[in-house]
Amino acid sequence: MNTNVEQSNIPSFIDPHEVGAWGMYLRQVDRTAPYLGSLTRWADTLRHPKRILIVDIPIRLDNGTVTHFEGYRVQHNVSRGPGKGGVRFHPQVSLPEVMALAAWMSTKCAVVNLPFGGAKGGVRIDPRKYSMAELERVTRRYTSEIIQVIGPEQDIPAPDVNTNAQVMSWMMDTYSISKGYSVKAAVTGKPVALGGSLGRVEATGRGIYVIATEAVKTFGMQLKGARIAIQGFGNVGGTAARLFQEAGAKVIAIYDQTGIVYDEQGLDVKALLNYAHEHGGGVKGAPGVTTLKPKEFWSLKTDILIPAALEGQITKDNAGLIRAKLVIEGANGPTTPEADDVLAENGIPVVPDVLANAGGVTVSYFEWVQDLESFFWDENTINHRLEDVMRSAYKAVTQSAAEHHVSLRTAAFILGCTRILEAREVRGLYP
Ligand code: NAD
Repeated sequence: MNTNVEQSNIPSFIDPHEVGAWGMYLRQVDRTAPYLGSLTRWADTLRHPKRILIVDIPIRLDNGTVTHFEGYRVQHNVSRGPGKGGVRFHPQVSLPEVMALAAWMSTKCAVVNLPFGGAKGGVRIDPRKYSMAELERVTRRYTSEIIQVIGPEQDIPAPDVNTNAQVMSWMMDTYSISKGYSVKAAVTGKPVALGGSLGRVEATGRGIYVIATEAVKTFGMQLKGARIAIQGFGNVGGTAARLFQEAGAKVIAIYDQTGIVYDEQGLDVKALLNYAHEHGGGVKGAPGVTTLKPKEFWSLKTDILIPAALEGQITKDNAGLIRAKLVIEGANGPTTPEADDVLAENGIPVVPDVLANAGGVTVSYFEWVQDLESFFWDENTINHRLEDVMRSAYKAVTQSAAEHHVSLRTAAFILGCTRILEAREVRGLYP
């Protein structure tokens, strides 16, 4: 992939023709830079992650042998506050992927105007192959390897793909043991018993739902009776599916790692969630549903399509198949820039990840604030504050799109990058 970034302007260890998630992010910055006015002179800041840590995680397995995993923590930008971002356990995690995810976190936190920078972590592991005890050792060793760069004032991890409240508890405990006292604000997405926030588990899915209620108004649609297809049935996709169904929409297809299920009349989301829970997290084999092939899923005639699994799912190869009236991104980076162009040509608006899935980090911010104050809010307060943040960000992004005549993605990037670079500029360059 060609970016207009000079080779000398990108980190030396990254292939300048990187086509994965980091390449996508660079393309998105390229598309935004012309709209940054005088701040364009700082745009290279966005192309250079602030700090990158690669760690070796040696673990004794249950059978007594020792194996090594590679772990990362990337702080992309911390001009506006401490780094913030999840930790992903996945066999395909790579440094460029974590760099992109960290950069999208910087952008997202700025879009919803949270006082955070952006960071992300990952461990290259297939968690399904290891026992709970092994995963606990991996998590604790990973935490202790990155402990110098994380903390409530520095960089606050959270859950992402294949990590959850239990993993966050182990991270919080490991961090706290190193300090000698409990540091609740060191990670977010913890169980409520450990200083987690009410509403955090559902926050990303709820944020998507709130954004959908706004977007349907913009595009002259309505949620009641809307036909919705969702890729990803985990924390984000599963919660969003449930909320959409409760609002009277028809979730007609779910596509997860194990398979695709479809029902023209609308799936029973609650039953499917129970089924997935009892069958290792997947929908494969669920009774009373039709199965589809990926091509058939992407071609479904729907009102709203929600990619909520992984990045790079909607590409130039399948974007032309899509017949949804609206795409709302639950995952980070699910649509490549080439696919964005195809969707735009076909008149399909995309509400971008850095806006649509910001509900999770917003309630993570609420959790961090509550932990620092040791004063906890009720769930209604949290959900109302979440809705306020999501609605004002949606309004700001749609206004930016109208002002600059650009897509919602570029509009969100203009808003986020402007806020990051304004902070960059007034802080000045040291020394
Ligand atoms: P999760 O692990 O709970 O669920 C992931 C889902 O994606 C599972 O249903 C899995 O089966 C499915 N999946 C994985 N690989 C797939 C593939 N190749 N094809 C189809 N389906 C596949 O993860 P999550 O927390 O729901 O995160 C999903 C996405 O949302 C990620 O991109 C993540 O970065 C993003 N996100 C998560 C949060 C959060 O709060 N958890 C916040 C913002 C963004």
